[in-house]
Amino acid sequence: MDKVFLHQLSYEEARDYFSRRDLVIIPVGSVEQHGPANPLGTDMLIALALAREAASRSGILSLPAIPFGISFHHMGFPGTVTVSEESLASYLLDVIRSLSKWGVKKVLVVNGHGGNLPTLQIVARKAMDELGIRVYVYQWWTSGSEVLSELFSEDERGHASGAETSLNMHLHPELVRSERLVDEEPRGSFENRVFRFVYTHEMSDSGVFGRQSASSPERGAALFERLVEDLLTVLKEIEGGR
Ligand SMILES: [Zn+2]
Repeated sequence: MDKVFLHQLSYEEARDYFSRRDLVIIPVGSVEQHGPANPLGTDMLIALALAREAASRSGILSLPAIPFGISFHHMGFPGTVTVSEESLASYLLDVIRSLSKWGVKKVLVVNGHGGNLPTLQIVARKAMDELGIRVYVYQWWTSGSEVLSELFSEDERGHASGAETSLNMHLHPELVRSERLVDEEPRGSFENRVFRFVYTHEMSDSGVFGRQSASSPERGAALFERLVEDLLTVLKEIEGGR
């Protein structure tokens, strides 16, 4: 098996990699409720799987996943773990600061959790400002939104809905409790005219936003393959100087 993660390399192998390339991938996830059927680690597991596959096909090194994210809004459900925006930003920036010592100039964050984005944007600004490192953020549901909307209907694209559940069924079927799939239309809407902080349990009893019942490993496999191809295109553009 090829070594695709930094933690698998010896320091000599790491020195060799950083002498050749100045780009790495960092998967960032969350540990938060994804309905009764899906594992708490869904966002981390999907980000890690995308990073692993893209690393394996491109030769670009991935770091191990940062598991925790900004999940205050899911704290109404057992097992959810959140870290503060300040903690995630300073932790990630410390990691990037270390990488800068080895010559890294570009970091592609594969983000598995939408709630992390505002914090990742701050990290991207600081990394450029303080270290001259360009941080890119790839989110499969936004960066790959064309692919996603081709394969999944709107009510299957929400939190813990059909798309995420299908990816889980494909990537780690042993973690999905298929007998506990839920369809639930969220109360209210994300598309509000004014921002307000909302807990997930205010909008959904099950924690699911949308329809899980048509999820399948086949649909997950199709989505995963298209997303990996999309991610590889992005990596190529970044390496090419974008
Ligand atoms: Zn998720």
